[in-house]
Amino acid sequence: MPTEEEVKSPTAVDIFDQSLATEEIEVNPDGNAFSFPPPPPESGNPYRVKLSRGDKGWQNWPGKNGKPSYLVTDLKATIVTPDNETTDGKVLFDNFVSTMVMQQTRTSRVQGVLKAVYDTRGQGEKVPQHTSHRELAQLLQAEFDKESEVGVWIQWEAYCEADSTPEKRVVVRGEKRFPQNADKTGHLGEMEHTCGSTIAAQAKITRYVPLTT
Ligand SMILES: [Zn+2]
Repeated sequence: MPTEEEVKSPTAVDIFDQSLATEEIEVNPDGNAFSFPPPPPESGNPYRVKLSRGDKGWQNWPGKNGKPSYLVTDLKATIVTPDNETTDGKVLFDNFVSTMVMQQTRTSRVQGVLKAVYDTRGQGEKVPQHTSHRELAQLLQAEFDKESEVGVWIQWEAYCEADSTPEKRVVVRGEKRFPQNADKTGHLGEMEHTCGSTIAAQAKITRYVPLTT
């Protein structure tokens, strides 16, 4: 028996050697190994999710044109649908949740997530009006720690690498633009783009909303 240390690196083998022992495995003979399962359907909107911080964590981003820096995190939203096992436990990602305040509306994505969480909880909590990037980040982190629940709306989005340039990102948005699946219960997660390359849909979180039950 090889020790644990030895099996960590691959070694050349003779696959016709009768003494070569390998584990028994079950495969799906008719399965398509080259297609990815589609994202959760948009018809499930709004989804109930549990929030947690992403693996990258908090980052300090420099402001543009001399503006002060702000804080950004990635976010994981785990879908909670106990009555639907195809979507239950699926994880959605939001890669840029920022404290940067938009001038016109005085809102930020972090403020928007917090408001939806507070309204879902229904205990009258409010995002502070006079605050700081650090305080808002800490408030959101507290919700990650509690795995707080909130609603999200998702939209399918597929990026076409072949057509995109540094100046222009070419994306296809919306589940309805993807072909229907064989039994017409939903849509395929992949399709041929107008340029001929295969593009794959991802579920993008478009907004956070309060959930009432
Ligand atoms: Zn394309």
